[in-house]
Amino acid sequence: GEVATMMDVPITKVIGTCMSLGIMVTMNQRLDAETLTIVADEFGFEVEFITTDIEEAAIVVEDLPEDLVHRAPIVTVMGHVDHGKTSLLDYIRKANVIGGESGGITQHIGAYSVILENGEKIAFLDTPGHEAFTAMRARGAQVTDIAIIVVAADDDIMPQTKEAISHAQAAGVPMIFAINKVDKATANPEKIKEQLAQLNLLVEDWGGKYQSQEISAKFGQGIPELLEKVLLEAEILELKANPKKLAIGTVVEAQLDKGRGYVSTILVQAGTLRVGDYVLAGKNHGKIRAMYDERGKQIKEAGPSSPVSVLGLDGAPTAGDKFNVYEEEREAKLVAAKRTQLQREQSVRTQKHITLAEIGRRIALGQFKELNIILKGDVDGSVEALADSFSKLSTEEIQINIIHKGVGAITESDVLLASASDAIIIGFNVRPQGNAKQLADKEEIDIRNYSIIYDAIDDLRDAMEGMLSPIL
Ligand code: GDP
Repeated sequence: GEVATMMDVPITKVIGTCMSLGIMVTMNQRLDAETLTIVADEFGFEVEFITTDIEEAAIVVEDLPEDLVHRAPIVTVMGHVDHGKTSLLDYIRKANVIGGESGGITQHIGAYSVILENGEKIAFLDTPGHEAFTAMRARGAQVTDIAIIVVAADDDIMPQTKEAISHAQAAGVPMIFAINKVDKATANPEKIKEQLAQLNLLVEDWGGKYQSQEISAKFGQGIPELLEKVLLEAEILELKANPKKLAIGTVVEAQLDKGRGYVSTILVQAGTLRVGDYVLAGKNHGKIRAMYDERGKQIKEAGPSSPVSVLGLDGAPTAGDKFNVYEEEREAKLVAAKRTQLQREQSVRTQKHITLAEIGRRIALGQFKELNIILKGDVDGSVEALADSFSKLSTEEIQINIIHKGVGAITESDVLLASASDAIIIGFNVRPQGNAKQLADKEEIDIRNYSIIYDAIDDLRDAMEGMLSPIL
């Protein structure tokens, strides 16, 4: 309705155009950005998007090069269950003693930072695993700079190890391999390196580019060296942030504390956060009453790459919500209200996820360059055969990326990865498991199931040529 008025054309014509695009709409419905562009184009109008993120409109600050200073890396630990993620995070947390203060970090606030002997800092997200990592990414938050992939040396590269690797790669986050449990008599680190090599991941002592370190998360062996390697990787990344502006960052965790009210752990990514600042995080807002570091010590301000827990928000925001500081309370409240309203009207997503049926149209529009696919199958042979055939379908116009492939049912973690990377999921003789189907419906992820290899290949080829026949 609004668009019709703006263009001064009858509403029925706009609805008609949408229908011809295969989109059924009512006059009160919001159109996503892409549809809007096409519809406007039909009537000879061009759409100018002032900002895709209402909240960002007010606070985008251009950083001056001289304001950018070094910031500490933010690290996530991932890997197969029982390979030692928690043990590693616990060891680092407990071992770290700063400035003669004995005792490590006893609080669990979802993230912590440690200072090494050479004075360098590293921040860790204390929610291990690729699910948490990718769930945040699906919400648009990429906070991790480096991923440590833990693999137990008395075991093998396991399905979740592979998942963790795919998730880190899809996010473009560099990996360091921590080969754990080397204190065990049954440990065989060389075997792990060999298995990594089979996945095309050559570690440095095998002549490759990936750093790896043998460690014992239980006894601490190799952990200082591992942290050194994290710093080395960070150096290459040249991580910088401007501490001089109003803080921006991401929510890591939030809960209601009986005595203190809502406590939110946030990771400051740029700018400096101060007590008294007016913060908006997701749909929640409030003035920061108090701020604590991971040691429970009250602090007045926090710069880039610092995890802090704050008091003062009017509710518990969700992990992965961005937060911003506003000069004025009025502004923050206004944006909070707008957000709530938008969510009530419809999901705030402006860009829908890709579907197989839509590929042809997007290619025709010329904006679509890469198709990400997650491939799951019942046996390794067919997964490899399909991955190979799919990759060969790449053309000059469109590159096919298999961002994750594996044997087994389609899991929630696959759906999250698809959501974070705008991918479609192809299942060969496998179906969604547990809540994966519901999550896929909610996130609008296209899951295709096949039991004949050629059908899958034909469908993808047809889709790329814009000739996929609609599902009846
Ligand atoms: P997560 O599921 O990856 O978080 O794994 P945990 O950290 O919970 O570790 C799983 C089990 O392996 C626990 O019983 C740990 O005590 C044990 N473990 C972890 N790291 C080591 C290690 O370096 N050496 C030995 N011997 N056991 C370890």
